[in-house]
Amino acid sequence: MPRPISAHISLSAMRHNLLAVRRCLDSAQVAGDRARPHVWAVIKANAYGHGILNAVQGFGAADGLAMLDLNEAVRCREAGWNGPILLLEGFFEPADIRVLDQHRISVTVHCAEQFDMLEKARPGRPLDAMVKLDSGMNRLGFQPGAYRQAYARAQALQQRGVLGALGRMTHFARADDDAQATAQQIAVFGEATQGLPGSASLCNSAATLTEGLWAHCVPGGEQWVRPGICLYGASPFDDRPAASLGLRPVMTLRSRLINTHVLKAGASVGYGYTYTAPRDTRVGVVACGYADGYPRHAPTGTPICVDGVMTRTLGRISMDMLGVDLDPVPGAAVGSEVVLWGEGGPSVDDVARASGTVGYELLCALAPRVPVQVH
Ligand code: PLP
Repeated sequence: MPRPISAHISLSAMRHNLLAVRRCLDSAQVAGDRARPHVWAVIKANAYGHGILNAVQGFGAADGLAMLDLNEAVRCREAGWNGPILLLEGFFEPADIRVLDQHRISVTVHCAEQFDMLEKARPGRPLDAMVKLDSGMNRLGFQPGAYRQAYARAQALQQRGVLGALGRMTHFARADDDAQATAQQIAVFGEATQGLPGSASLCNSAATLTEGLWAHCVPGGEQWVRPGICLYGASPFDDRPAASLGLRPVMTLRSRLINTHVLKAGASVGYGYTYTAPRDTRVGVVACGYADGYPRHAPTGTPICVDGVMTRTLGRISMDMLGVDLDPVPGAAVGSEVVLWGEGGPSVDDVARASGTVGYELLCALAPRVPVQVH
């Protein structure tokens, strides 16, 4: 018998969340004079831990797929995805350009070295490219003062048939928690790219779900949003639960109780004896630990669901198991179903918050040893 742990991926939740994003974009359409933005579904990091091939199926209605890894992009093509693919960090060496060309993969160009490589390249057909502006994230992209020159380089490559359709792109640093900082980035983008042709792409999940924000990003023309986390049913915001945004969890992490016992008053449970029972307490042991991707930093009290009843973890998370308080679930026994996060349990965001991290990290950290079932 394998350990009773499994991750369940819901393709219908993926479809639902993509639709929720589109509805949100519709509700922000201003007076019919704006085309709704296209949606790049961001599926980097193995689709935030959900599996690239599952994402190709679940987000089959997206306008394009965006990711970082060239190998993942090729796998999408091999899985039959015919639509646009965008590499968010572009490429790293000249040999990559041949693969981009062969598989019709678009790139983000964010530094002069990438232009140097493109200038020596002879792709069989022009590559579509987004030229990235650093509007304030201070991570990747051309500085505002250097942007026009970079775009001119892209246009020269377009003239030579090396590049095809061009676009302007930037990334927000604080769309989840600081409207002023985001407005400042939009202003920098507007000024640096004013009058330049091509599509525009600015919004991650938080910006996409902030009402009307996309409509203020660019005065007109074709726009692409790039939501990631919300498509997996987790919230980009600290103070707005995913359910309140109309999102459904895509990943549910399930396990079972493999032992139950009574912890005597004054006795402690697990490594480090971090929890001592104030009175006799029924404890369950769940087949899930940090080697499965559950956060070791989850403190006593992290929400967890046993037999449909919300309860809490007790003691330190071990490599392969963790303790739960069974006092609220008197009927629980060995074999009882446990939901660590997802449908029918706490949200991944709640578990992440209790553990001092974000849902993104927990989803991406699901361990390869956890069997995945796709529904
Ligand atoms: N665009 C870029 C360039 C990113 O790096 C990311 C992810 O960090 C996204 C879009 C999607 O962000 P989120 O998952 O917050 O929607």
